[in-house]
Amino acid sequence: MTTPETELDGGLYAARQKIYPREIEGRFQRLRTIAAWVLLGIFYVIPWIPWHGRQAVLFDLPARKFHIFALTLWPQDFYFLTWLLVIAALSLFFFTALAGRLFCGYACPQTVWTETFLWMERFVEGSRSQQMKLAKAPWTREKILRKGAKQLLWISFSLWTGFTFVGYFTPIKELAGLVTQFSTGPWETFWVLFYGGATYVNAGFMREQVCKYMCPYARFQSAMFDKDTLVITYDDTRGEPRGARKKGVDPKAKGLGDCVDCTLCVQVCPTGIDIRKGLQYECIACAACIDACDEVMDKVGYPRGLIRYDTQHGIEGKPKHVVRPRTIVYATLLILLSAGLAWTITHRNVVAVDIIRDRNALYRERPGGMVENVYNVKLLNKDGQEHEFAITASGLPGIEIDYAGPTVWVGAGQVQGVPVRIRIPEDALEGGADIEVAIQATDRPDLKASGKARFIAPTDD
Ligand code: SF4
Ligand code: SF4
Repeated sequence: MTTPETELDGGLYAARQKIYPREIEGRFQRLRTIAAWVLLGIFYVIPWIPWHGRQAVLFDLPARKFHIFALTLWPQDFYFLTWLLVIAALSLFFFTALAGRLFCGYACPQTVWTETFLWMERFVEGSRSQQMKLAKAPWTREKILRKGAKQLLWISFSLWTGFTFVGYFTPIKELAGLVTQFSTGPWETFWVLFYGGATYVNAGFMREQVCKYMCPYARFQSAMFDKDTLVITYDDTRGEPRGARKKGVDPKAKGLGDCVDCTLCVQVCPTGIDIRKGLQYECIACAACIDACDEVMDKVGYPRGLIRYDTQHGIEGKPKHVVRPRTIVYATLLILLSAGLAWTITHRNVVAVDIIRDRNALYRERPGGMVENVYNVKLLNKDGQEHEFAITASGLPGIEIDYAGPTVWVGAGQVQGVPVRIRIPEDALEGGADIEVAIQATDRPDLKASGKARFIAPTDD
């Protein structure tokens, strides 16, 4: 059934009008460009950085180890990731309470990749008006060539993105070799195509629709806003009534506000909205409309800031409280959690030992009245450096240890199993006993760990 509202709106599912955001220059655009270069640079370059014979950042799922430069996270360290996620969520709350959708405007992958695709589109098809003209033009040879070149650029960039993504999980140099020989495995092929395809569709076609219809953050962000949150806003007290006028004309004499109704703020908007209608959930806070309006204000000789970062209180002429209890609580929690994480990571024990009894033989009686038990001692070196370890045993008088020593070499982020024989004089035993096996790095005495094991004696039979 069609309701009056849906009739007015043109139906529940109106066809999407492609948005051609106008290119803009200005201080916020420069910030966005810098942010995009830095973030893209980090994403594409990091997998190629070597670190002591391995890839600096590698999420090695088969080995269940995450290498992040000098840090190697083992399955038992994965609570750090949960901790990191809590910090990320809290950062989002903090920055949203402070300055609205900062993340969306400057750092969201959807924004950054869409911006990159827009650059490629402008590079091949020209300015906004040239793109619109080309879209309406018949399919001539030039149109086919331009559209084809754009698609080629987009697809190549998307595949490179998919390849880089997989390069975080598979050593990227090996992956590059496999790709050049067209011999990647089924999983690598799937993920390169899947991630590349998602980039191509999201940044090339869906663009603002991802923000409008798919991103949950757009829906709940308003719950984190209050009247002291900095948002991008149009000062309608100053701007209205809007209207065109000649340069040098006093707007007040004509009964006009400062908005010259040039619509540049709408033309530069990547989500196609008119900020003059007030704060809308579609606004990703990219600040392009601020740059556009400031440029217009400069041209007509009015003060900048008709569209600006301001708070609701600021717009109403009331005192602003950008720093307030809520932001202080978020900031304090963030600092405490981040400091706690840094301390825990830097002070965690990077070596561990696991002692497993050889189940094939309970004990052996050796010459000289000694009783021997055999163990497999596993040395875990979670450090980013290789180390030599000495193994010692204690717990009963006259205890002796015998292994292929005097030290055991364990590579960075490796586990090394060592067969160890432990002997105890029989007269020191009154049945089975608990003994302690310890390991200690010979070059770093602070790297040590120990574990308990059960020593089986003949009287246990
Ligand atoms: S850019 Fe500024 S002056 Fe032009 S329409 Fe938008 S608000 Fe008005
Ligand atoms: S309204 Fe302004 S800040 Fe919001 S998305 Fe559009 S251009 Fe960006």
